This record gives sequence, structure tokens and C-alpha cells, in this order.
Amino acid sequence: MPQGETYWNPYRMIPVKTGRLERHCPITHEAIKGISGEIEASLTTITPLLIGTQEGKNKKPVSNMESHLPVLPGSSLKGMIRSLAELVGNGCDVTDSSDPEHSKCKDIERLCICCRLFGMQHDQQSFLGKVHFSEGCWIGEGKPELLENQPVLLSNPKERHTAFYNSNKKYRKLYHHQPLRTTGPLRAKDSAQEKMVSLLAVIKSNETFSIKVSFINLEEDEFGLLLYCLALEGNVTAMVNGLEHKGNLYHKLGMGKPLGMGSVKIELLKLSLFDPDIAIRYRLWDGRNLIIFETEELKQEIYNRTASLRNDNSPTMQYLRSMLLWIPDDQRSFSYPERNSERDWFTDHKGVPLKDPISGI
Ligand SMILES: [Zn+2]
Repeated sequence: MPQGETYWNPYRMIPVKTGRLERHCPITHEAIKGISGEIEASLTTITPLLIGTQEGKNKKPVSNMESHLPVLPGSSLKGMIRSLAELVGNGCDVTDSSDPEHSKCKDIERLCICCRLFGMQHDQQSFLGKVHFSEGCWIGEGKPELLENQPVLLSNPKERHTAFYNSNKKYRKLYHHQPLRTTGPLRAKDSAQEKMVSLLAVIKSNETFSIKVSFINLEEDEFGLLLYCLALEGNVTAMVNGLEHKGNLYHKLGMGKPLGMGSVKIELLKLSLFDPDIAIRYRLWDGRNLIIFETEELKQEIYNRTASLRNDNSPTMQYLRSMLLWIPDDQRSFSYPERNSERDWFTDHKGVPLKDPISGI
């Protein structure tokens, strides 16, 4: 919430890590080195989800051309994981060069961990990245039922309220989960802004998609970061609004995040790694060149490989946990401060900052 108000602003600015941003030459694709393989996972919606295409003023889920079933584009999944990795892994910021330490990578021989994983492009230079996300496919019989004709104010242009952004430090924006909005309705339309209302058809909560992530030639820390950003943390304790809570961290995906949309749970189901022995890897194509992790072994492997990030209690990670923790009985109400012809909160409250999500003060 802004200080002095009872509701919570939908987003918070999370401080980026302050350590030196390490850059080096990536292991390139033609090499046979490092960790390669594939992850199979499921993604389940917890609040309504929309990765949408436009139909006039309205939006509906992106769907497969042949099956007409909703799909999760690989580019959207990759974008979600990259943006998290930039915060967790102390990567460069491709959109903002105001901080020289975190400025965008411009030299293919000196890439940050995120550009090595997900790729970079600058002038004539480009690096494809070593992680590929396939399209997420819906799992179920028939078709998923959509929540149709949801009147939503998607574009609500606001000036940058400087008190919400601390310009002395570098931050990234994260949106709160809103457990009160697991089933909708999303938000009643505001008649004063009727022209800006879109009608959305959204995927309901509790629908599941299968996703696949393949990767090639990863270094240990790159693989650890990828696993952490996919699996996040389960059964973790975090401070939220001055109280200690225990639970799981979940992702936010797609449109309508300020309205509580897009909370999703990703569960890793199977990890297949190519045998590090090159002779085995290229001679045995009958599956014996793979090392498979499932169920408890997979949990242990993720636990071991993400230890340094799970044990990281930097301010960045504390704020991240505070924002991504799913608290099923969270009763907080979330909305932007009022701004209409009668009242403009921002004009009346110049200099009022947001409350701290960890302490609630
Ligand atoms: Zn970079």
C-alpha cells in the first residue's frame, strides 16, 4: 500500500543485487562441453491467465493454429524466466543503461550470465542463447473452459509517480500475488474510462499445461540459475507485511498482473542430462546416453544445484521471496490509487512512498 492507505499498490520495486556483475565469453554451441539436456515440467494456473492476441478492442488466448487450443508461447515463458534470472542472477538490464554496472552487454566475448543463457543482440553481434522453451500445451480432454467477456481496464496510463520509485538505487518491478482473485471476476469496469475497457477471454485457474525446456553447454552456475528460476523454492519462510509466512514461491505470467492475473505454479517432472562422457553421449542413441532424474531424485538434484541461491539472503532475495510467496488466506486488497475527474491521489500525495512489503511499514 502507499503509506497511510489501507489497500496495497499492485507492484513493488525490488532492489537489484549490488555485487559486481561478472561477464565472460560463453561456451558456444559447436563445443561439446558443459551440461546439456532437457527439463519436462507442468504449469498450472492459480489465478486466471491470459497470454493474449488482439481481436479489435478485445483479447483472447493465443491458440494453436491446428488444434485451436490455447497455448503458452515459448517466447512468453522464456521472457518470464529471463526477467526473474536477471534479478536472481545479477544479470544486465537490456532496457536501461543508467547504471554502468548493470548496463546491457554489448560485447559477445563478455556476456553476463543471463545473456549467456538466453541470448543477446547488439548492433551486428548476436548470440543465440543456450536455453530453448517449447510451446506450452494444454493437458486435458476436449477444450478448457474460458472465463469470457471480462471487462478490464488494461491500459491505465499513469505518469511515473517518483515517490514510488527510489531513483538513487536500481530496482525492478514485481507484482504481488492476489489470492482473493483465484476465480475472478477480474475487475468491474469504471464507467468514466469506458473507452479504455477491453473484454478478455481468459484461461481459468486450475488448468494445466506441459512445458519443455532444452539447454546446451551450460556452466554449473548457469544451470543452477536456470533450475532455481524454473522451480523457485518450496516450503520457504519469508516475512510479508511484518509477519512470518511459510509456503511456496510461484511465478507471475502474462497480462493483467495488476489485477491479480497470471499466478502460476511450475512443477519440474523430469530432468534428462546427456552423459558427460562424450564417447557414451554420441555412441548410444538408444536412451542410454541420458541420465534421468524423476520424483525424489529430481527434487534432491534441484535442491543440491540451487543451494547457493536458496541460501542467499541478500535484500534482493528477501524481497523476491516476500513478493513471490503464495499465501492462500491473504486477505489484502490490491488496487492502484484513485485517479479520476473528481480525485487524483497522486496530486494530493506527492512524496508519499509505498510501504515496505517485508515489514509493512
Ligand atoms: Zn547481459
